[in-house]
Amino acid sequence: MPPNTPRSQLKRKLSNAFNTISSPQRSNSGSSSTSSSSIYNLVRPTTTLALIIGASWLSILTRYSGNNSELKPSINNMAQQTTVTQQHYLREKEEPKLDDPFAIEYDNCIIGAGLSGSVIAEQYATKFGQTSLIIEKRNHIGGNVYDYIDDETGIRCSLYGAHLFHTRHERVWEYVQQFADWIPYEHSVVGNVNGKIVPIPVTIDTVNTLFDLNIQSTQEMDEWLKNEQVQFKDEDGNTREPVNSEEVALTRVGQRLYDLIFKPYTYKQWAKYPAELGPEVLSRIPVRNNHDGRYFSDPHQALPKDGYTPIFEKMLNSPKITVLTNTDFFAVRDRLKCKRIYYSGQIDTYYADLGWPKLEYRSLSFERVVQKETKGYYQEAFVVNHPQATDVNGKDVDYTRIVEYKHLLNQTSDSTVYFIERSKDGGEPYYPVPNQENKDLYRRYQEMAEKEEGVTFVGRLANYKYFNMDDAILNALELFDKDTKDMTVSKSSR
Ligand code: UDP
Repeated sequence: MPPNTPRSQLKRKLSNAFNTISSPQRSNSGSSSTSSSSIYNLVRPTTTLALIIGASWLSILTRYSGNNSELKPSINNMAQQTTVTQQHYLREKEEPKLDDPFAIEYDNCIIGAGLSGSVIAEQYATKFGQTSLIIEKRNHIGGNVYDYIDDETGIRCSLYGAHLFHTRHERVWEYVQQFADWIPYEHSVVGNVNGKIVPIPVTIDTVNTLFDLNIQSTQEMDEWLKNEQVQFKDEDGNTREPVNSEEVALTRVGQRLYDLIFKPYTYKQWAKYPAELGPEVLSRIPVRNNHDGRYFSDPHQALPKDGYTPIFEKMLNSPKITVLTNTDFFAVRDRLKCKRIYYSGQIDTYYADLGWPKLEYRSLSFERVVQKETKGYYQEAFVVNHPQATDVNGKDVDYTRIVEYKHLLNQTSDSTVYFIERSKDGGEPYYPVPNQENKDLYRRYQEMAEKEEGVTFVGRLANYKYFNMDDAILNALELFDKDTKDMTVSKSSR
Protein backbone atom coordinates (compact mmCIF):
# COMPACT_ATOMS: atom_id res chain seq x y z
CA MET A 1 0.00 0.00 0.00
CA PRO A 2 1.39 3.44 -0.84
CA PRO A 3 2.41 5.28 2.32
CA ASN A 4 0.07 8.21 1.86
CA THR A 5 -3.29 6.53 1.42
CA PRO A 6 -6.00 7.60 3.86
CA ARG A 7 -5.54 4.23 5.57
CA SER A 8 -1.87 4.70 6.18
CA GLN A 9 -2.52 8.23 7.41
CA LEU A 10 -5.08 6.78 9.75
CA LYS A 11 -2.60 4.17 10.92
CA ARG A 12 -0.16 6.94 11.74
CA LYS A 13 -2.85 8.75 13.68
CA LEU A 14 -3.70 5.60 15.49
CA SER A 15 -0.14 4.95 16.43
CA ASN A 16 0.12 8.54 17.66
CA ALA A 17 -2.99 7.90 19.67
CA PHE A 18 -1.45 4.73 21.06
CA ASN A 19 1.54 6.77 22.11
CA THR A 20 -0.66 9.01 24.18
CA ILE A 21 -2.38 6.23 26.07
CA SER A 22 -0.32 6.69 29.17
CA SER A 23 -0.58 10.47 29.10
CA PRO A 24 -3.01 12.12 31.53
CA GLN A 25 -5.48 12.50 28.70
CA ARG A 26 -5.78 8.77 28.23
CA SER A 27 -6.31 6.15 30.79
CA ASN A 28 -7.24 2.52 30.59
CA SER A 29 -8.49 2.59 34.10
CA GLY A 30 -11.53 4.58 33.29
CA SER A 31 -10.81 8.08 34.48
CA SER A 32 -11.99 10.41 31.79
CA SER A 33 -9.56 12.81 30.22
CA THR A 34 -9.56 16.47 31.13
CA SER A 35 -10.14 17.52 27.57
CA SER A 36 -12.86 14.93 27.09
CA SER A 37 -14.76 15.91 30.17
CA SER A 38 -14.55 19.55 29.22
CA ILE A 39 -16.26 18.95 25.96
CA TYR A 40 -18.88 16.86 27.67
CA ASN A 41 -19.46 19.64 30.12
CA LEU A 42 -20.60 21.70 27.19
CA VAL A 43 -23.51 19.35 26.85
CA ARG A 44 -26.31 19.80 29.31
CA PRO A 45 -27.53 16.39 30.48
CA THR A 46 -30.92 17.19 29.02
CA THR A 47 -29.58 18.39 25.71
CA THR A 48 -31.01 16.27 22.97
CA LEU A 49 -29.61 17.66 19.77
CA ALA A 50 -27.19 20.23 18.56
CA LEU A 51 -26.08 21.22 15.12
CA ILE A 52 -22.46 21.43 14.20
CA ILE A 53 -21.32 22.98 11.00
CA GLY A 54 -17.74 22.25 9.98
CA ALA A 55 -15.72 23.83 7.19
CA SER A 56 -16.41 21.16 4.64
CA TRP A 57 -19.12 19.14 6.16
CA LEU A 58 -22.42 19.26 7.88
CA SER A 59 -23.06 16.73 10.50
CA ILE A 60 -25.36 16.26 13.34
CA LEU A 61 -24.08 15.59 16.78
CA THR A 62 -26.75 13.88 18.66
CA ARG A 63 -27.03 13.40 22.37
CA TYR A 64 -29.66 10.77 22.83
CA SER A 65 -31.33 11.29 26.12
CA GLY A 66 -35.03 11.32 25.50
CA ASN A 67 -37.77 9.80 23.46
CA ASN A 68 -36.53 10.03 19.93
CA SER A 69 -39.64 8.63 18.32
CA GLU A 70 -40.28 12.02 16.77
CA LEU A 71 -37.79 11.07 14.10
CA LYS A 72 -39.97 9.53 11.46
CA PRO A 73 -38.13 9.33 8.18
CA SER A 74 -40.30 8.53 5.19
CA ILE A 75 -39.98 4.97 4.03
CA ASN A 76 -39.33 5.39 0.38
CA ASN A 77 -37.06 8.36 0.10
CA MET A 78 -33.83 8.39 2.01
CA ALA A 79 -32.93 11.84 0.62
CA GLN A 80 -36.20 13.19 1.92
CA GLN A 81 -35.52 11.46 5.23
CA THR A 82 -32.37 13.47 5.69
CA THR A 83 -34.15 16.71 4.93
CA VAL A 84 -37.00 15.99 7.29
CA THR A 85 -34.63 15.03 10.06
CA GLN A 86 -32.34 17.98 9.53
CA GLN A 87 -35.32 20.28 9.73
CA HIS A 88 -36.23 18.58 12.93
CA TYR A 89 -32.74 19.14 14.28
CA LEU A 90 -32.71 22.73 13.07
CA ARG A 91 -35.74 23.44 15.18
CA GLU A 92 -33.51 22.62 18.15
CA LYS A 93 -30.98 25.30 17.29
CA GLU A 94 -31.42 27.14 20.56
CA GLU A 95 -29.37 24.28 22.01
CA PRO A 96 -25.74 25.21 22.62
CA LYS A 97 -23.38 24.54 19.74
CA LEU A 98 -20.68 22.03 20.52
CA ASP A 99 -17.01 22.29 19.76
CA ASP A 100 -15.57 20.29 16.92
CA PRO A 101 -16.01 16.68 18.08
CA PHE A 102 -12.91 15.72 16.11
CA ALA A 103 -10.74 17.96 18.27
CA ILE A 104 -11.15 15.50 21.10
CA GLU A 105 -9.31 12.27 21.66
CA TYR A 106 -11.53 9.29 22.31
CA ASP A 107 -10.73 5.89 23.68
CA ASN A 108 -12.79 4.30 20.93
CA CYS A 109 -14.08 5.38 17.58
CA ILE A 110 -16.98 3.17 16.67
CA ILE A 111 -18.25 3.08 13.13
CA GLY A 112 -21.96 2.37 13.09
CA ALA A 113 -24.66 2.99 15.71
CA GLY A 114 -26.39 -0.34 15.19
CA LEU A 115 -26.48 -3.20 17.66
CA SER A 116 -22.79 -4.08 17.49
CA GLY A 117 -21.49 -0.52 17.79
CA SER A 118 -23.97 0.41 20.50
CA VAL A 119 -23.13 -2.62 22.63
CA ILE A 120 -19.40 -1.94 22.36
CA ALA A 121 -19.82 1.74 23.28
CA GLU A 122 -22.17 0.92 26.14
CA GLN A 123 -19.83 -1.71 27.55
CA TYR A 124 -16.76 0.53 27.42
CA ALA A 125 -18.68 3.33 29.11
CA THR A 126 -20.25 1.15 31.79
CA LYS A 127 -17.41 -1.17 32.62
CA PHE A 128 -14.38 1.09 32.13
CA GLY A 129 -15.70 4.63 31.94
CA GLN A 130 -14.09 4.88 28.51
CA THR A 131 -15.13 7.41 25.92
CA SER A 132 -16.49 6.49 22.51
CA LEU A 133 -17.26 8.52 19.44
CA ILE A 134 -19.83 6.72 17.32
CA ILE A 135 -19.89 7.71 13.68
CA GLU A 136 -23.09 6.84 11.90
CA LYS A 137 -23.76 7.37 8.21
CA ARG A 138 -27.53 7.34 8.56
CA ASN A 139 -29.64 10.01 10.21
CA HIS A 140 -30.59 7.81 13.13
CA ILE A 141 -29.22 5.35 15.65
CA GLY A 142 -30.27 1.71 15.93
CA GLY A 143 -29.06 0.36 12.58
CA ASN A 144 -31.57 -1.89 10.92
CA VAL A 145 -33.40 -2.36 14.20
CA TYR A 146 -34.56 1.28 14.16
CA ASP A 147 -38.29 1.79 14.59
CA TYR A 148 -40.46 4.91 14.68
CA ILE A 149 -44.07 6.01 15.01
CA ASP A 150 -45.81 6.20 11.64
CA ASP A 151 -47.17 9.74 11.21
CA GLU A 152 -50.47 8.95 9.66
CA THR A 153 -51.58 6.02 11.79
CA GLY A 154 -49.67 6.42 15.05
CA ILE A 155 -48.45 2.84 14.73
CA ARG A 156 -44.89 1.92 15.64
CA CYS A 157 -43.19 0.50 12.55
CA SER A 158 -39.71 -0.73 11.73
CA LEU A 159 -37.95 1.17 8.98
CA TYR A 160 -35.94 -1.83 7.82
CA GLY A 161 -38.47 -4.64 8.16
CA ALA A 162 -39.78 -6.81 10.96
CA HIS A 163 -37.41 -7.49 13.85
CA LEU A 164 -38.35 -10.19 16.31
CA PHE A 165 -36.18 -10.69 19.32
CA HIS A 166 -35.50 -14.28 20.30
CA THR A 167 -32.56 -15.89 22.03
CA ARG A 168 -31.32 -18.98 23.73
CA HIS A 169 -28.32 -17.13 25.14
CA GLU A 170 -28.95 -16.34 28.80
CA ARG A 171 -26.24 -13.71 28.72
CA VAL A 172 -27.95 -11.82 25.92
CA TRP A 173 -31.35 -12.13 27.54
CA GLU A 174 -30.02 -10.72 30.80
CA TYR A 175 -28.16 -7.97 28.98
CA VAL A 176 -31.20 -6.65 27.11
CA GLN A 177 -33.32 -6.57 30.29
CA GLN A 178 -31.45 -3.44 31.36
CA PHE A 179 -32.72 -1.38 28.48
CA ALA A 180 -36.43 -2.16 28.18
CA ASP A 181 -39.49 -3.80 29.61
CA TRP A 182 -40.02 -6.84 27.46
CA ILE A 183 -43.41 -8.28 26.59
CA PRO A 184 -43.45 -12.00 25.84
CA TYR A 185 -44.21 -12.47 22.15
CA GLU A 186 -43.92 -15.71 20.22
CA HIS A 187 -43.75 -14.93 16.55
CA SER A 188 -45.68 -17.01 14.08
CA VAL A 189 -45.91 -16.58 10.34
CA VAL A 190 -48.54 -17.73 7.92
CA GLY A 191 -48.13 -18.19 4.21
CA ASN A 192 -50.58 -17.73 1.37
CA VAL A 193 -50.02 -20.90 -0.65
CA ASN A 194 -52.39 -21.89 -3.45
CA GLY A 195 -54.84 -19.37 -2.00
CA LYS A 196 -54.83 -21.14 1.38
CA ILE A 197 -53.45 -19.63 4.57
CA VAL A 198 -51.06 -22.10 6.21
CA PRO A 199 -48.55 -21.97 9.05
CA ILE A 200 -44.90 -21.50 8.15
CA PRO A 201 -42.76 -23.32 9.28
CA VAL A 202 -44.28 -26.55 8.03
CA THR A 203 -46.44 -28.19 10.70
CA ILE A 204 -49.17 -30.85 10.71
CA ASP A 205 -51.65 -28.07 9.91
CA THR A 206 -49.63 -26.88 6.91
CA VAL A 207 -49.60 -30.35 5.42
CA ASN A 208 -53.25 -31.13 6.22
CA THR A 209 -54.43 -27.88 4.63
CA LEU A 210 -52.27 -28.03 1.52
CA PHE A 211 -52.77 -31.71 0.73
CA ASP A 212 -56.25 -32.25 2.17
CA LEU A 213 -55.01 -34.76 4.72
CA ASN A 214 -56.02 -35.59 8.24
CA ILE A 215 -52.74 -36.21 10.01
CA GLN A 216 -53.48 -36.45 13.73
CA SER A 217 -50.29 -37.33 15.54
CA THR A 218 -46.56 -36.70 15.49
CA GLN A 219 -46.03 -40.34 14.49
CA GLU A 220 -48.26 -39.90 11.44
CA MET A 221 -46.49 -36.65 10.58
CA ASP A 222 -43.07 -38.30 10.92
CA GLU A 223 -44.22 -41.02 8.57
CA TRP A 224 -45.59 -38.53 6.08
CA LEU A 225 -42.37 -36.55 6.16
CA LYS A 226 -40.28 -39.70 5.79
CA ASN A 227 -42.11 -40.57 2.59
CA GLU A 228 -41.50 -37.08 1.22
CA GLN A 229 -37.91 -36.55 2.31
CA VAL A 230 -35.06 -37.06 -0.15
CA GLN A 231 -31.75 -38.53 0.98
CA PHE A 232 -28.41 -37.67 -0.57
CA LYS A 233 -25.63 -40.26 -0.76
CA ASP A 234 -21.90 -39.90 -1.08
CA GLU A 235 -19.75 -41.93 -3.49
CA ASP A 236 -19.68 -44.83 -1.03
CA GLY A 237 -23.45 -44.92 -0.82
CA ASN A 238 -23.59 -43.42 2.68
CA THR A 239 -26.10 -40.70 3.54
CA ARG A 240 -24.37 -37.34 3.44
CA GLU A 241 -25.16 -33.87 4.73
CA PRO A 242 -26.91 -31.42 2.38
CA VAL A 243 -24.45 -29.11 0.67
CA ASN A 244 -26.82 -26.36 -0.47
CA SER A 245 -30.23 -24.96 0.45
CA GLU A 246 -32.13 -27.05 -2.09
CA GLU A 247 -30.74 -30.20 -0.53
CA VAL A 248 -31.58 -28.89 2.94
CA ALA A 249 -35.22 -28.39 1.96
CA LEU A 250 -35.49 -31.70 0.12
CA THR A 251 -34.04 -33.67 3.02
CA ARG A 252 -36.44 -31.98 5.41
CA VAL A 253 -39.75 -31.64 3.58
CA GLY A 254 -39.37 -33.28 0.16
CA GLN A 255 -40.05 -32.07 -3.35
CA ARG A 256 -43.71 -31.02 -3.09
CA LEU A 257 -43.38 -28.59 -0.20
CA TYR A 258 -40.07 -27.42 -1.57
CA ASP A 259 -41.74 -26.48 -4.85
CA LEU A 260 -44.67 -24.78 -3.13
CA ILE A 261 -43.03 -22.87 -0.30
CA PHE A 262 -39.26 -22.74 -0.52
CA LYS A 263 -38.09 -22.69 -4.11
CA PRO A 264 -40.18 -19.77 -5.42
CA TYR A 265 -39.86 -17.65 -2.25
CA THR A 266 -36.10 -18.13 -2.19
CA TYR A 267 -35.84 -17.15 -5.83
CA LYS A 268 -37.83 -13.96 -5.18
CA GLN A 269 -35.75 -13.23 -2.09
CA TRP A 270 -32.29 -13.92 -3.45
CA ALA A 271 -32.63 -13.92 -7.26
CA LYS A 272 -30.93 -17.28 -6.92
CA TYR A 273 -32.36 -20.76 -6.60
CA PRO A 274 -31.76 -22.58 -3.32
CA ALA A 275 -29.29 -24.89 -5.11
CA GLU A 276 -27.11 -21.81 -5.66
CA LEU A 277 -27.09 -20.85 -1.97
CA GLY A 278 -25.25 -22.38 0.97
CA PRO A 279 -27.20 -24.69 3.31
CA GLU A 280 -27.45 -21.99 6.01
CA VAL A 281 -30.23 -20.09 4.21
CA LEU A 282 -32.93 -22.72 4.40
CA SER A 283 -31.55 -24.29 7.59
CA ARG A 284 -33.02 -21.27 9.35
CA ILE A 285 -36.55 -22.57 8.94
CA PRO A 286 -37.54 -25.46 11.23
CA VAL A 287 -39.90 -28.27 10.26
CA ARG A 288 -42.30 -29.51 12.91
CA ASN A 289 -43.99 -32.87 13.39
CA ASN A 290 -46.67 -31.28 15.60
CA HIS A 291 -48.96 -28.21 15.64
CA ASP A 292 -46.31 -25.79 16.90
CA GLY A 293 -46.50 -22.93 14.40
CA ARG A 294 -43.98 -20.69 16.16
CA TYR A 295 -41.30 -19.34 13.89
CA PHE A 296 -38.61 -19.68 16.54
CA SER A 297 -38.00 -22.24 19.27
CA ASP A 298 -35.75 -20.15 21.52
CA PRO A 299 -36.68 -20.05 25.21
CA HIS A 300 -36.73 -16.24 25.25
CA GLN A 301 -38.97 -14.52 22.74
CA ALA A 302 -40.19 -11.00 23.44
CA LEU A 303 -40.67 -7.48 22.15
CA PRO A 304 -39.61 -4.29 23.89
CA LYS A 305 -42.76 -2.63 25.23
CA ASP A 306 -41.86 0.81 23.87
CA GLY A 307 -40.11 -0.33 20.71
CA TYR A 308 -36.49 -0.84 19.80
CA THR A 309 -35.26 2.71 19.24
CA PRO A 310 -35.61 3.68 22.93
CA ILE A 311 -33.30 0.76 23.76
CA PHE A 312 -30.53 2.40 21.74
CA GLU A 313 -31.31 5.79 23.26
CA LYS A 314 -30.83 4.22 26.68
CA MET A 315 -27.68 2.35 25.75
CA LEU A 316 -26.06 5.45 24.31
CA ASN A 317 -27.28 7.89 26.92
CA SER A 318 -23.97 8.29 28.65
CA PRO A 319 -21.66 11.28 29.05
CA LYS A 320 -18.95 8.96 27.79
CA ILE A 321 -20.65 8.39 24.44
CA THR A 322 -20.91 10.88 21.59
CA VAL A 323 -22.90 10.01 18.51
CA LEU A 324 -22.40 11.73 15.17
CA THR A 325 -25.15 10.87 12.73
CA ASN A 326 -25.21 11.79 9.03
CA THR A 327 -21.47 11.34 9.03
CA ASP A 328 -19.50 9.19 6.65
CA PHE A 329 -16.53 7.61 8.39
CA PHE A 330 -14.47 7.64 5.22
CA ALA A 331 -14.96 11.38 4.86
CA VAL A 332 -13.75 12.11 8.40
CA ARG A 333 -11.34 9.27 9.18
CA ASP A 334 -8.27 11.50 8.82
CA ARG A 335 -9.59 13.75 11.54
CA LEU A 336 -10.19 11.04 14.10
CA LYS A 337 -8.14 10.74 17.20
CA CYS A 338 -8.80 7.49 19.00
CA LYS A 339 -7.02 4.67 20.69
CA ARG A 340 -8.81 2.00 18.72
CA ILE A 341 -11.49 1.68 16.08
CA TYR A 342 -14.43 -0.69 15.92
CA TYR A 343 -15.80 -0.87 12.41
CA SER A 344 -19.25 -2.35 11.85
CA GLY A 345 -19.76 -1.31 8.22
CA GLN A 346 -19.28 -3.35 5.07
CA ILE A 347 -15.86 -4.93 5.03
CA ASP A 348 -15.55 -4.50 1.25
CA THR A 349 -16.27 -0.78 1.57
CA TYR A 350 -13.49 -0.47 4.13
CA TYR A 351 -11.10 -2.00 1.61
CA ALA A 352 -12.53 -0.25 -1.45
CA ASP A 353 -9.14 1.21 -2.33
CA LEU A 354 -7.81 -2.30 -2.98
CA GLY A 355 -10.00 -2.43 -6.07
CA TRP A 356 -11.11 -5.99 -5.33
CA PRO A 357 -14.53 -7.27 -6.43
CA LYS A 358 -17.41 -6.20 -4.21
CA LEU A 359 -19.15 -8.65 -1.93
CA GLU A 360 -22.72 -9.33 -2.95
CA TYR A 361 -25.60 -8.17 -0.74
CA ARG A 362 -29.32 -8.49 -1.17
CA SER A 363 -31.48 -5.52 -0.29
CA LEU A 364 -35.15 -4.92 0.41
CA SER A 365 -37.74 -2.35 -0.54
CA PHE A 366 -40.91 -1.62 1.39
CA GLU A 367 -44.05 -0.30 -0.22
CA ARG A 368 -46.04 1.49 2.45
CA VAL A 369 -49.82 1.28 2.21
CA VAL A 370 -52.17 3.04 4.62
CA GLN A 371 -55.70 1.75 4.97
CA LYS A 372 -57.91 4.35 6.62
CA GLU A 373 -60.91 3.64 8.80
CA THR A 374 -59.72 0.21 9.77
CA LYS A 375 -60.23 -0.41 13.45
CA GLY A 376 -59.18 -4.00 12.88
CA TYR A 377 -56.47 -5.30 10.59
CA TYR A 378 -55.66 -5.53 6.91
CA GLN A 379 -54.53 -9.16 7.16
CA GLU A 380 -54.89 -12.08 9.54
CA ALA A 381 -51.38 -12.03 10.99
CA PHE A 382 -48.46 -9.73 11.61
CA VAL A 383 -46.48 -11.37 8.80
CA VAL A 384 -48.05 -13.10 5.81
CA ASN A 385 -45.60 -14.74 3.43
CA HIS A 386 -46.36 -15.02 -0.26
CA PRO A 387 -43.99 -17.74 -1.35
CA GLN A 388 -45.34 -18.36 -4.82
CA ALA A 389 -44.49 -16.53 -8.03
CA THR A 390 -48.14 -16.20 -9.06
CA ASP A 391 -51.46 -16.19 -7.20
CA VAL A 392 -54.43 -18.50 -7.78
CA ASN A 393 -55.56 -16.33 -10.69
CA GLY A 394 -52.17 -16.55 -12.36
CA LYS A 395 -51.31 -12.97 -11.46
CA ASP A 396 -47.63 -12.25 -10.74
CA VAL A 397 -46.74 -11.92 -7.06
CA ASP A 398 -43.40 -10.14 -7.04
CA TYR A 399 -43.30 -9.58 -3.28
CA THR A 400 -42.20 -12.01 -0.57
CA ARG A 401 -44.25 -10.92 2.41
CA ILE A 402 -46.59 -8.31 3.84
CA VAL A 403 -46.02 -6.97 7.32
CA GLU A 404 -48.68 -5.20 9.40
CA TYR A 405 -47.19 -3.76 12.59
CA LYS A 406 -50.52 -3.02 14.21
CA HIS A 407 -50.59 -6.67 15.28
CA LEU A 408 -47.69 -6.03 17.66
CA LEU A 409 -47.51 -4.40 21.09
CA ASN A 410 -51.31 -4.22 21.50
CA GLN A 411 -51.44 -1.17 19.26
CA THR A 412 -54.74 0.45 18.43
CA SER A 413 -55.53 2.94 15.67
CA ASP A 414 -58.46 3.95 13.50
CA SER A 415 -56.32 3.07 10.50
CA THR A 416 -53.72 0.49 9.67
CA VAL A 417 -50.49 0.56 7.73
CA TYR A 418 -48.82 -2.36 6.03
CA PHE A 419 -45.61 -2.84 4.11
CA ILE A 420 -45.24 -4.92 0.99
CA GLU A 421 -41.74 -6.31 1.02
CA ARG A 422 -39.74 -6.94 -2.11
CA SER A 423 -36.20 -7.99 -2.55
CA LYS A 424 -33.73 -6.20 -4.78
CA ASP A 425 -30.08 -5.74 -5.65
CA GLY A 426 -28.41 -2.50 -4.61
CA GLY A 427 -29.58 -0.13 -1.89
CA GLU A 428 -29.10 -0.81 1.79
CA PRO A 429 -27.13 -4.03 2.32
CA TYR A 430 -29.39 -6.40 4.25
CA TYR A 431 -28.33 -9.92 3.48
CA PRO A 432 -24.86 -11.24 2.69
CA VAL A 433 -25.37 -13.71 -0.18
CA PRO A 434 -23.92 -17.00 1.04
CA ASN A 435 -22.51 -18.79 -1.98
CA GLN A 436 -19.01 -20.15 -2.41
CA GLU A 437 -17.77 -17.26 -4.53
CA ASN A 438 -18.77 -14.68 -1.92
CA LYS A 439 -17.45 -16.81 0.93
CA ASP A 440 -14.06 -17.10 -0.81
CA LEU A 441 -13.96 -13.38 -1.53
CA TYR A 442 -14.92 -12.58 2.04
CA ARG A 443 -12.08 -14.80 3.24
CA ARG A 444 -9.63 -12.57 1.33
CA TYR A 445 -11.09 -9.45 2.93
CA GLN A 446 -11.00 -11.16 6.30
CA GLU A 447 -7.29 -11.86 5.94
CA MET A 448 -6.74 -8.15 5.38
CA ALA A 449 -8.90 -7.32 8.40
CA GLU A 450 -6.92 -9.66 10.63
CA LYS A 451 -3.78 -7.73 9.81
CA GLU A 452 -5.36 -4.31 10.30
CA GLU A 453 -3.73 -2.64 13.27
CA GLY A 454 -5.92 -0.84 15.76
CA VAL A 455 -9.15 -1.70 13.93
CA THR A 456 -11.57 -4.42 14.95
CA PHE A 457 -14.28 -5.54 12.56
CA VAL A 458 -17.57 -6.30 14.28
CA GLY A 459 -21.11 -7.28 13.33
CA ARG A 460 -23.14 -8.51 10.40
CA LEU A 461 -21.65 -6.41 7.60
CA ALA A 462 -18.07 -6.58 8.77
CA ASN A 463 -18.28 -10.36 9.26
CA TYR A 464 -20.34 -10.83 6.09
CA LYS A 465 -22.65 -13.05 8.05
CA TYR A 466 -26.39 -13.10 8.61
CA PHE A 467 -26.80 -12.26 12.30
CA ASN A 468 -30.02 -12.44 14.24
CA MET A 469 -30.25 -9.62 16.77
CA ASP A 470 -29.08 -11.85 19.61
CA ASP A 471 -26.13 -13.08 17.52
CA ALA A 472 -25.08 -9.48 16.95
CA ILE A 473 -25.32 -8.67 20.66
CA LEU A 474 -23.45 -11.81 21.71
CA ASN A 475 -20.77 -11.26 19.10
CA ALA A 476 -20.21 -7.71 20.33
CA LEU A 477 -20.20 -8.70 24.02
CA GLU A 478 -17.70 -11.48 23.40
CA LEU A 479 -15.49 -9.28 21.32
CA PHE A 480 -15.55 -6.68 24.06
CA ASP A 481 -14.58 -9.37 26.61
CA LYS A 482 -11.70 -10.47 24.42
CA ASP A 483 -10.42 -6.96 23.83
CA THR A 484 -10.63 -5.97 27.48
CA LYS A 485 -9.58 -9.16 29.22
CA ASP A 486 -6.40 -7.57 30.52
CA MET A 487 -8.02 -4.34 31.62
CA THR A 488 -8.98 -3.58 35.20
CA VAL A 489 -12.66 -3.00 35.86
CA SER A 490 -13.35 0.47 37.14
CA LYS A 491 -16.45 2.00 38.65
CA SER A 492 -19.09 2.96 36.17
CA SER A 493 -19.39 6.65 35.57
CA ARG A 494 -22.60 6.54 33.58
N1 UDP B 1 -38.02 -18.98 3.05
C1 UDP B 1 -38.81 -19.58 2.10
N2 UDP B 1 -40.16 -19.52 2.25
C2 UDP B 1 -40.75 -18.86 3.26
C3 UDP B 1 -39.94 -18.26 4.23
C4 UDP B 1 -38.59 -18.32 4.09
O1 UDP B 1 -38.31 -20.15 1.15
O2 UDP B 1 -41.99 -18.83 3.31
C5 UDP B 1 -36.55 -19.06 2.88
C6 UDP B 1 -35.97 -17.87 2.11
O3 UDP B 1 -34.89 -18.33 1.35
C7 UDP B 1 -35.48 -16.98 3.21
C8 UDP B 1 -34.98 -18.01 4.23
O4 UDP B 1 -35.93 -19.06 4.14
O5 UDP B 1 -34.47 -16.12 2.79
C9 UDP B 1 -34.89 -17.49 5.64
O6 UDP B 1 -36.17 -17.01 6.02
P1 UDP B 1 -36.35 -15.97 7.19
O7 UDP B 1 -37.79 -15.78 7.41
O8 UDP B 1 -35.52 -16.40 8.34
O9 UDP B 1 -35.72 -14.70 6.51
P2 UDP B 1 -35.60 -13.22 7.08
O10 UDP B 1 -36.78 -12.99 7.98
O11 UDP B 1 -34.32 -13.16 7.78
O12 UDP B 1 -35.66 -12.40 5.86
